Parts: sequence; C-alpha cells; structure tokens
Amino acid sequence: MNIILFGPPGAGKGTQATKVVKKFNLHKVSTGDLLREEIKNNTDLGNKIKSIMDRGSLISDNIINDLITKVISNKKFYNRLIFDGYPRNLKQGKNLDSQIKKYKQKISCVLSLNVDKESIIKRISGRQICVNCGLIFNEYYYPASSKNHSCDPKFLNKRSDDNKKTIINRFETYLNKTLPILDFYKEQNLFHQINGMAKIDQIFDEIYGIIASLET
Ligand code: AMP
Repeated sequence: MNIILFGPPGAGKGTQATKVVKKFNLHKVSTGDLLREEIKNNTDLGNKIKSIMDRGSLISDNIINDLITKVISNKKFYNRLIFDGYPRNLKQGKNLDSQIKKYKQKISCVLSLNVDKESIIKRISGRQICVNCGLIFNEYYYPASSKNHSCDPKFLNKRSDDNKKTIINRFETYLNKTLPILDFYKEQNLFHQINGMAKIDQIFDEIYGIIASLET
C-alpha cells in the first residue's frame, strides 16, 4: 500500500503523515524534508535549493524525481510509502506513476486535505518544528507543552520559508501547478477529500477509516 497525502502548504500533511506512519508502519517520503537535508549538508546543490525554496517556488522536476526514484527502488520500503508534498505538478505525477509501475507497486489512495487560505496563512506563520524529534506544533492552535512534547523547548524551530510573503507564493504555486493533478487521480478513482479544517485527531480518524478499509 502506497499513499499520497495531498493539500496546500500548511494543510497538516506532515502531521497526519507522522500519525499514519506510526499506525500502519509506513515510511514517510517528504520531498521538502529531503531537500532541507540537502541544504543542511551545505552542498552547492543545497545552496541553490535554498534560494528557490525561500522564494516559495518549486525545485526542478529532475532533482525531485531523482530523490523519489531512490526511495521507490529501495526494497526496504517496498509498497510501504506515504508521500507528503509529492507530486507537486503533473510531470511529477506521471513520473511517480511510471516509477511505481516499474517497481511493481501501486498507489492505493490519494487523501486530499482541504483548508482555506486564511487558515493556511495562520497555520504556517505559527508553525514550529522540533528539530530533535520532528514533531510539529503551532503557536496559535497547538502549542508545545510538557503534555505533548518531551524534548527541551530550545529545539523548537521555525522554517525559513514560513513567512507571510513566501506563504502567498507557495499557495499560488499550489493552485496553479499542484491542484490540477487531482483530475489525474480522480480519473483513477483513487481520490478522497478530507476536511483539513477539523481537529487533528478527527482528521486522523477519517484517514484511519479510509486506510483501514483499503487493507481488508
Ligand atoms: P514542503 O516541506 O512540502 O512545504 O516544501 C517546502 C518547499 O520545498 C516547497 O515550497 C518547494 O520549494 C520545495 N519542494 C518540496 N517538495 C517539492 C516537490 N515535490 N517539487 C518541487 N519542489 C518541492
């Protein structure tokens, strides 16, 4: 079972992907995380990526598709992937389709999280990520505390592209380039719409129901 989590930036894909991974023993593939790893390693490629990311634009398909091929071809993760932030345009969608077929796997469902623009801006501007454990919090909606987070608060960090100007560009990019892919998945009957405005646990319950029904 391979799953695609779809939705605008700040829709909660990362949060839900982490929960799905735990419950269904899948491997999360976040192209954003893979790119941030490259930036952290301070390579030439990493520096180029950072300036594009900080503008809120998409990184070239060749770079992204190479990252994806490495994961799909890895036998360790055979048919156990959850994609977060990929595919981001139709070319990537078609690449994913052909790689999945090549390595004799399948996409089981596309879960699309629906969130309005205003909430996205608030969610992204309040987002905090723990660099130690990877958990995601929000200063306004879901602040980190000793009840939900065991690491030292000093590990809480903000992403450099989580600022108001970049958010608008990321959202426009989503509308123009990413959203059109949904028709591709609707034609294949893989598409499920999820209310991304609900509470984190309610969203997960809905996602859990869909994935559990796929397993039987
Ligand atoms: P994310 O962590 O998914 O919010 O992605 C952060 C940024 O990384 C995006 O705004 C893009 O600049 C870049 N990025 C992540 N995934 C992709 C992708 N599949 N294709 C192109 N650029 C991507």
